Amino acid sequence: MATIEIPKELLPLDGRFGAGPSKVRSEALDALLAAAPTYLGTSHRQATVKDVVARVRAGLAKLFSIPDGYEVVLGNGGSTAFWDIATFCLIEKKSQHLSFGEFSSKFAQSAQMAPFLEDPIVFTSESGTHPEAVAMAEIDSYGLTHNETSTGVMTKIARPRYDGGRPCEGIVLVDATSAAGGIRVDIEETDVYYFAPQKCFGSDGGLWIAIMSPKALARAAAIGASGRYIPPFLDLNIAIENSRLDQTYNTPALVTLMLLAEQVEWFNANGGLEWSASRSDASAKILYDWASQSAVADPFVREPAQRSTVVGTIDFIEGIDAAAIAKVLRANGIVDTEPYRKLGRNQLRISMFPGIDSSDVQRLTECIDYVIENLS
Ligand SMILES: *Cc1c(COP(=O)(O)O)cnc(C)c1O
Repeated sequence: MATIEIPKELLPLDGRFGAGPSKVRSEALDALLAAAPTYLGTSHRQATVKDVVARVRAGLAKLFSIPDGYEVVLGNGGSTAFWDIATFCLIEKKSQHLSFGEFSSKFAQSAQMAPFLEDPIVFTSESGTHPEAVAMAEIDSYGLTHNETSTGVMTKIARPRYDGGRPCEGIVLVDATSAAGGIRVDIEETDVYYFAPQKCFGSDGGLWIAIMSPKALARAAAIGASGRYIPPFLDLNIAIENSRLDQTYNTPALVTLMLLAEQVEWFNANGGLEWSASRSDASAKILYDWASQSAVADPFVREPAQRSTVVGTIDFIEGIDAAAIAKVLRANGIVDTEPYRKLGRNQLRISMFPGIDSSDVQRLTECIDYVIENLS
């Protein structure tokens, strides 16, 4: 197969469409570079670094309009570490999980394997859809996912409620790794809204951040005092103590922190979550309108309200090889449009995080059309 060269004038200005790590804005890198001589390579126990942690915590509190008593907690290990932290420090006895893709299944597995917990209740649904949580008296923790990055399904976050509207007693833990900052949320409907900086926040990986309610903080304290064995690295109470001092338990990646602070402040300076989510909305409208009108493509997620506005999954008809398209795009500098491996579909997956310009999503659709014309 001869390589197809996409005309320069069609190419997006930035070719990064991966679902994480995702596009890092050059303005954030410029700020990092400017700060570097007195920031990088300095102690994370001193004011220079603690000030950046403080910027992150205050900036996120503002971005999510956190209610009184909620706290921004952070530590090392990314969202994957947080599943084990939640298993050790937040689930009392029995949890319920909605499992509808690679990421949402993992927290359920952690809870399943923990010898000190009862078997969790796990609701699943066909890929490209999501199940609903069910309020139950015996459940002390609910594991929801705001956006399932592997399939491009987003959900509406709300406390599970009994018939009649009374909210569940258990705490509500939301994996918002790919949603936070790009999809609107009412934090009051959650007890732990956790994420990592390498998706909507256009930073690097390695950190987890959790916005915790007073109820969740109390739960962590109670389990910490219960005598349960908790590995120190996964001890949420140690992370809470350190976060209150604008520190982390062990050494964080200073680059990650600075890029995160820059992105959060960029969102806040322009109007906050409403503004950043609107940027993703605009990109999503372009992508799904294009796919819906295309003779060879279709949004994978059938239900329009469940189509993610931050990670779009687009199926192609038989005879159009999505893997070949992704390969040509990559050769032309447009990277990471491959679908989630284990989903095994003839599909492209395109991120539309707030840092990505809608005009670049528009150009990407034109590039895909160009490649399809020239492949056949
Ligand atoms: C990317 C992602 C994760 C994993 O995040 P890490 O920081 O790599 O551990 C977890 N959940 C969701 C929904 C994700 O998109």
